[in-house]
Amino acid sequence: MRATSFGPTALLLMACLLWGCSGVSLDLPSSVQPAAQIAAKTGAKAIHASRPISDSEEYYVGRAVGARILAKYPLYQDQEVTRYVNKVGLTVARKSSRPNPYRGYHFAVLDTPEPNAFACPGGTILITRGLLKNCATEDELAAVLAHEVAHIANKDGIKSISQARWTEVATTLGTETAKQYGGSAGQMVTLFEGSIDDVFKTIVVNGYSRSAEESADREAVSILRKAGYNPGALAAVLTKMSGKEGAGGIYRTHPPTSERLAKVQSLAPASSASSEKEAVRTARFQQLKI
Ligand SMILES: [Zn+2]
Repeated sequence: MRATSFGPTALLLMACLLWGCSGVSLDLPSSVQPAAQIAAKTGAKAIHASRPISDSEEYYVGRAVGARILAKYPLYQDQEVTRYVNKVGLTVARKSSRPNPYRGYHFAVLDTPEPNAFACPGGTILITRGLLKNCATEDELAAVLAHEVAHIANKDGIKSISQARWTEVATTLGTETAKQYGGSAGQMVTLFEGSIDDVFKTIVVNGYSRSAEESADREAVSILRKAGYNPGALAAVLTKMSGKEGAGGIYRTHPPTSERLAKVQSLAPASSASSEKEAVRTARFQQLKI
């Protein structure tokens, strides 16, 4: 796995490259035609059983979601910080239950004081400067990133695409309709736009279910242990976040921090004792200009 950061140009290009495998760009039409209408016009029958979304489809949906988030928040243009976040992120990702998604993991920092982090399906993780500043140590940053990696490993984002929506997309993709519209970018994109909407709304507006969050916290603690980080770092960072619910951002999309903290403390309590290695990691974290 290679630590890769991407600049704003690359991220904007995502939209154009998005459906490259099917020869379709992501220039979203201003007025879109629901997939059901396309299917109806061409006689496609949306009655077949749906197939699961593939890893490559998940990746492309995730990139489109990432591009939408980047339209909302600018990237933090600091290579040193971006490189560092990628190194820590890849270290924890390697110890997750899904170390090698289709195109690997990529981490980037968003330039906003709002505390937030987004796990785009397929492996793109965006963390804000506001949330980075909430971390006092490398281990706490690793804890935050491990939680986001767990969402990707558990496919929580892609699971938010409604079953009805995906059934319709998958069915239409497998019919003459897809071939017929293969040359028309706008129409093909229409098929996927609803899926991208579903994921965007979940990760940016509504949040995942409580059980998905609990599971991501549990996996984060396990990842921290396996990666050699202090497993109590998640409880430590949640302790600091507790009571700040009014700040919006990640607090809006996650269960109450006190509720998460109680469960995480029972898995790995925050510890004030710091090992020598942890002190070295903390020193390098504190040199960053966030
Ligand atoms: Zn979460």
